[in-house]
Amino acid sequence: MIKNKSVIEKFLSPSKIVVLTGAGVSAASGVPTFRGKEGLWKKYSPQELANPQAFAAKPELVWEWYIWRRNLINQVKPNSAHHALVDLEKMNSGFTLITQNVDNLHRQAGNTRVIELHGNIMKNKCFDCNKTSDSEVHLNNGLPHCTYCGGLIRPDVVWFGEALPFEALQNAQSAVTECGLCLSVGTSGVVEPAASLPFQAKAHGAYVVEINPEQTPLTEHADLFIQDSADKVLPEIIIELKLAINQ
Ligand code: NAD
Ligand code: ZN
Repeated sequence: MIKNKSVIEKFLSPSKIVVLTGAGVSAASGVPTFRGKEGLWKKYSPQELANPQAFAAKPELVWEWYIWRRNLINQVKPNSAHHALVDLEKMNSGFTLITQNVDNLHRQAGNTRVIELHGNIMKNKCFDCNKTSDSEVHLNNGLPHCTYCGGLIRPDVVWFGEALPFEALQNAQSAVTECGLCLSVGTSGVVEPAASLPFQAKAHGAYVVEINPEQTPLTEHADLFIQDSADKVLPEIIIELKLAINQ
């Protein structure tokens, strides 16, 4: 709960709100975080599989993991944290949601002003020519290939060691430099360049709130650290805001 009146006022002020989200926001939906104890698939860590070298060496293995993750994500629903962020978007006309999540749950919940920094797990692109495609991937008939150049088709997500989509990063950076309030929710704050965004917001004068059950490198720099899960804290904040509006 946010008891402090001046913090409530920051949420309700007309200045822009930016929310940066990470895997922790989807944890309550049943999507494992990368660094949590459920992050391992078979004996592999996500860091071992989510990189271009792993795909070049063992594309079947990497695809098998992504098909497993796609099936999992297809079965889950947005949770109360996602729904609260839809409410927040409705309350703030300068709202921007920047997500590192690839699971599409923010859009599924109803957020429209979403910047996907790390792509979307349900989409594909060519490993060689980058042409995107939406067709479903099964491995029964072997690995999928690009119809333009014959290269291997891969998931359209940003892997460790890869650059972020240029436009998405630019839009995210300009959003944080313009906001009055920046929330960092459910992210470990160690994957760059996303991790720097709340610091950039602070450097440009924004009030920074962090929501995470664990401390992160951002914690000591945040103006307010709420040490709890997003699916609990965000709906509580919305209740407080609605109460304040109706007072
Ligand atoms: P991470 O897995 O490194 O860290 C998750 C963070 O969430 C941790 O700090 C943890 O303490 C916190 N957390 C756990 N449960 C929470 C809860 N209920 N409420 C709030 N916070 C909670 O994730 P990251 O820093 O977001 O990103 C690392 C990379 O992993 C990103 O590139 C992202 O694309 C990818 N990823 C995405 C998904 C997804 O799309 N759902 C899932 C796993 C990993
Ligand atoms: Zn191609």
